Amino acid sequence: MQNLPEKHWHHQPPAEVIGLLEANPQQGLDAAAVQARQASFGPNALPTAKGRGPLLRFLLQFNQVLVYILLVATAIKLAVGAWTDASVIFGVIFLNAVIGFIQEGKALGALEALARALTTEATVLRGGQRQRIDARALVPGDIVLLASGDKVPADLRLLEVRELRVDEAALTGESLPVEKRAEPLPTDTVLADRRNMAYSSTLVHYGTATGVVVAIGKGTEIGRISELLAHTNVLATPLTRRITRFSHWLMWAILSLAALSFAVGTLVHGQSAVEMFLAAVALAVAMIPEGLVVVLTITLAIGVSRMAKRNAIIRHLPAVETLGSTTVICSDKTGTLTRNEMTVQRLWAAGLGAEVSGVGYEPQGALSQAGQALAELPPALEELLRTGLLCNDAVLREDGGSWRIEGDPTEGALLVAARKAGLHEAGQAAAHPRLDALAFESQHQYMATLHGGAQPVVYMKGAVEAVLARCDCAIGPDAASQPLDADAVQAEVEAMARLGLRVLAFARRSGAGLARIGHGEVGSGLEFVGLQGMIDPPRAEAVRAVQACHTAGIRVKMITGDHAVTAAAIAAEIGLDPRASRERPPRALSGRQLEALDEAAFEAAAAETAVFARVTPEQKLRLVQALQARGEVVAMTGDGVNDAPALKRANIGVAMGITGTEVSKEAAAMVLTDDNFASIEAAVEEGRGVFDNIVKFISWILPTNAGQGLVIIAAILAAQPLPILPVQALWINMTTAVLLGLTLCFEPREAGIMLRPPRRPDAPILNWELVLRILIVGVMLMLGATVLFHHALARGLTESEARTIALAVFAVGQSFYLLNMRSLRHSMWKLGLMSNPWIWVGIAAMMGSQLLVTYVPVMNTMFHTAPIAASEWLPVLAVGLAIHLVVGAEKLLRKTLEARAAAG
Ligand code: ATP
Repeated sequence: MQNLPEKHWHHQPPAEVIGLLEANPQQGLDAAAVQARQASFGPNALPTAKGRGPLLRFLLQFNQVLVYILLVATAIKLAVGAWTDASVIFGVIFLNAVIGFIQEGKALGALEALARALTTEATVLRGGQRQRIDARALVPGDIVLLASGDKVPADLRLLEVRELRVDEAALTGESLPVEKRAEPLPTDTVLADRRNMAYSSTLVHYGTATGVVVAIGKGTEIGRISELLAHTNVLATPLTRRITRFSHWLMWAILSLAALSFAVGTLVHGQSAVEMFLAAVALAVAMIPEGLVVVLTITLAIGVSRMAKRNAIIRHLPAVETLGSTTVICSDKTGTLTRNEMTVQRLWAAGLGAEVSGVGYEPQGALSQAGQALAELPPALEELLRTGLLCNDAVLREDGGSWRIEGDPTEGALLVAARKAGLHEAGQAAAHPRLDALAFESQHQYMATLHGGAQPVVYMKGAVEAVLARCDCAIGPDAASQPLDADAVQAEVEAMARLGLRVLAFARRSGAGLARIGHGEVGSGLEFVGLQGMIDPPRAEAVRAVQACHTAGIRVKMITGDHAVTAAAIAAEIGLDPRASRERPPRALSGRQLEALDEAAFEAAAAETAVFARVTPEQKLRLVQALQARGEVVAMTGDGVNDAPALKRANIGVAMGITGTEVSKEAAAMVLTDDNFASIEAAVEEGRGVFDNIVKFISWILPTNAGQGLVIIAAILAAQPLPILPVQALWINMTTAVLLGLTLCFEPREAGIMLRPPRRPDAPILNWELVLRILIVGVMLMLGATVLFHHALARGLTESEARTIALAVFAVGQSFYLLNMRSLRHSMWKLGLMSNPWIWVGIAAMMGSQLLVTYVPVMNTMFHTAPIAASEWLPVLAVGLAIHLVVGAEKLLRKTLEARAAAG
């Protein structure tokens, strides 16, 4: 990719920059210029950051204590001239590394694909039109519009700035947002002081600006230090770390046990040191669960892709497991629990109310009063609709008969309402051209615009409290000024809100003599125009998802910027609080009420209240902290720039993929591609499934190791020949883990997974019941293998034949046990025999590999096995069946006891 020659962009005046870049600040680039520049400059993307290279990742597979032990064993085998053994052991180590490498690569690939799925968007001016595009398509010379919450998509020279504050921590490390302006600066100004530049990857904290792209991709300042962005491709979560610690601990325990057996063998039984060393190696190999961490990682990665299919993109891997223990979900209302498809239904101005008919964005409908169509539009209502239409950034479009909104749906609804009364954007904008605007920021709760024309005017719209507080008079029925009756306004607001309508207030003042507006110009002295109430129906799937959360022991709280009464009415419709109803809506606390509470009362309110309205971002953060102080695991949604602290603090910060700002996405652990509450519930469900599968896998794999270990210890202590040799233990561990164990990752979620309470995050991974099950199976495998081994020897079979039988006990026994472990509670008949076909593929492959190692001569040489008569398989199958039945009976018994306890 080429880039522009280095220039001191900050030093040049805007006009010169524009000339140099052949840009056009009024119209933006045209399509042909964009295409030509894309062809010569390439995409606006940083080269994909490199993590560990493949070679290093492969070599790291050997960096395990067990592998070191095996390498020593290989060396000893070589020293005693056992070439075959040495090469088999080495071959297995190598194969194991290859499998680990491939699996890890797959897991990483899945995560990287997801990272790519989240693109940054930018607002540009092209061909005279504002457009929202993928930031990768930006070219030098593009005119970019920045607004609060945006991530700066490329290096920009700012042309016009309105109170822009940018968080440049990503670039300069400076944590306080930096104020920007457009004036040229001296050539030698250092990067951190270039106030008229906005650099790629920094975050807009506040305000708006227009800038021209001067550098993209690798040419940007962040591109130059792109190693800073390098992904650390480490697949670690608290759980994998816990398991890694556990396996380290286990490994040292096993090594001590091996050393002890070595000592017993040589000192007590007087066996040869080499033989005993190999027996100790066999013990270590048999008992260390090598596959554990790898399979965990794969299970997590599979969980991540399953969540992505259900519209939840995980940005931080640990969220996958935290999701399973979520106890409270705090959700926004607009767009998450509701559809964010607004339709104005009621107008109110100067004491005149009117209903608006029609649904959706199609401007088909009419105004009526008490069921009577309005013959003529009263001037006050016309002014109300005009205010909504002009103080507006949305665009209403028709594509082949279907109508849609570009921009904020709240604003779109105002355009539709105005059109239903015959007011069109084009005509109004021509009569009242816009000179300036103050964008909506949720902390101010209003937006204002300044219009020229015959009678310059400032229009404002926003939350009722914010607008009303600035008004000292109101328009009358003829649209002339009269005193403000704030009580009448409040009564109407209450009436609309009780119906669940989202209420917006409108005001105006003269714009004479103004060329620009700031917050000072609209601080007071406005004339109240009226109210518009719009419905935003709940999402049907959100209603179902909230119910599912309730049965799963998860509480849902609505935390919204909207009015308390509206929020409570919608919450009742959604069924947010199981104790409330439409007639008795849940208690809603407003931000102001929260403010008045002391710490203890705040904490209690956080726990007990289901609806919080007009909440500030700071209060969101306090709510998260209060809930966490009570031991809750909190998922919190957010979309605005100021939500970032709460998103970071929550156990799972959830950002909105469609309407969320880039800042909120950066702060979140999970991003919803459809902004839908139901996707959070789906992710929780998947999270629980992932955890289940991990527990199943651990409980399944450990008996193999325990059983083999016991077999070998018993043999050493009794000074008997080993029923399993090191290479054989290696063979069994590898084939069972890869062919059988891995299939458990594909086990679908169990029915009823959302009928259980959330898992306590501090609960042990294995409860004592599972530990008992592991011991039972381990002992049964050990008994089966040892007894059949000695029985075979007693019948005059060779050691190789007897060992082949002992090995088969593990292969067959673990296959039967796998069928039990498809569910921790239910029998496989209840799950459906074919609900995870991979299980059968795995068992077939396992049996195939066991036949290979038994009957193929070269395998016999490599693994010291020998062909056995068909009849020898019968007792082996019997052991497997016995394990299956015993575990089945144990599950049944436990279920009966549980049911009895529940009934009693
Ligand atoms: P939620 O927090 O559940 O998403 P919300 O969209 O109502 O709800 P905010 O975006 O913080 O929350 O909006 C707060 C209030 O500001 C709204 O209730 C509305 O009265 C007002 N408001 C929202 N959008 C605009 C806008 N574009 N222009 C003016 N006022 C707005």
